Amino acid sequence: MATHRTKMLIIGSGPAGYSAAIYGARAMMEPIVVQGLQPGGQLTITTDVENYPGFREVIQGPWLMEEMKAQAEHVGTRMMWDTIVEVDVAGGSPFRAVGDSGDEYIGDTLVICTGAQAKWLGAPGEQELGGKGVSACATCDGFFYRGKKVAVIGGGNTAVEEALYLTNHSEDVTLIHRRDSLRAERILQDRLFKHPRITVLWNKVVDSFEGDPLAGGLTHLALRDTETGEASDFACDGAFVAIGHAPATELFKGKLKMDDGGYLLVEPGTPKTEIPGVFAAGDVTDHVYRQAVTAAGMGCMAALDAERFHSGLDIDLEGHAEPVSEAAE
Ligand code: FAD
Ligand code: NAP
Repeated sequence: MATHRTKMLIIGSGPAGYSAAIYGARAMMEPIVVQGLQPGGQLTITTDVENYPGFREVIQGPWLMEEMKAQAEHVGTRMMWDTIVEVDVAGGSPFRAVGDSGDEYIGDTLVICTGAQAKWLGAPGEQELGGKGVSACATCDGFFYRGKKVAVIGGGNTAVEEALYLTNHSEDVTLIHRRDSLRAERILQDRLFKHPRITVLWNKVVDSFEGDPLAGGLTHLALRDTETGEASDFACDGAFVAIGHAPATELFKGKLKMDDGGYLLVEPGTPKTEIPGVFAAGDVTDHVYRQAVTAAGMGCMAALDAERFHSGLDIDLEGHAEPVSEAAE
């Protein structure tokens, strides 16, 4: 088991983590990025990205993340194939984290960029039929439903994009939403409504996912109308749950302040948590904007603030660090 020491320890490798790394490395903070189970983050499970500035043509999410990673490495970031399973921030800087590998990471500053993960409905049959007709990623699993009938559950950008993407494989795509209007961007809604192979079912919730996990998988969804209460069955081969994401903050429970949704709380307009030297950036702290470009921007802010914090540090012989101004008082 090795110990890795750095001036800037970054947990997470989405747009926030890689951007923090690029700025941190260029500020001579010799950052380490611990990549986690999803190197590149959420954009690695999508295809077309049309709103990341700088590209006139449509680009691919996984490609964009490879480019960000390459840039971060090029300027001197160390990438670690590991997942943090334990964090100690209580004693102040330096902060200690332990990886799944057993390796220990010590950072004078800590930048948390652990992002968010797909939410599930929690309806009966959902988990049992996972991978047997039920999925949360059309890009990953859409191919398996070539020529078949599929449903997408949700009404945000993700659900609409998933439905549009699935038309590449399926002739018959139905979007099922619990209200009578979508929260997805207008441009995506327009594409959805104009698409000849997509139908929208309004005011419906999924009560259960039905089928035999051992024989044939999903066969239908048991639906309920939210206005009339009427129950109905919806036959389909695949169902894609696209109802949003939850922040990956389990590690920090009881250690850092969070809101009711589990998002890390920061000083408004900054990436600063309540512990000096610990910063949060991207979807892990942002339940409003949740975009690649905003995550990248916050990663930049966290790196700049981490560098400022570090340059005011006086690290004593035991390796404990105190802000110079406070230590002098
Ligand atoms: P994430 O991208 O969520 O990355 C989190 C990182 O943290 C991952 O690398 C993960 O491995 C790591 N991690 C988590 N826990 C640990 C741990 N314990 N130890 C180590 N590492 C850990 N936004 C756009 O702007 N344009 C789009 O077109 C667009 N399309 C999207 C399509 C889909 C299907 C989805 C789901 C999202 C899309 N978004 C889009 C939103 C965008 O992907 C996110 O806002 C952005 O990725 C957030 O970046 P992030 O760095 O905060 O976190
Ligand atoms: P979201 O915007 O939070 O939308 C979640 C959708 O699921 C909502 O329509 C919600 O319904 C519905 N929902 C939530 N819980 C449900 C439940 N238990 N049962 C039934 N329906 C439920 O999530 P998202 O679409 O994943 O988007 C997340 C963020 O990523 C957003 O900021 C989005 O802009 C961004 N994103 C951007 C792009 C892009 O720019 N191209 C693409 C994908 C994602 P209600 O509407 O009734 O609340």
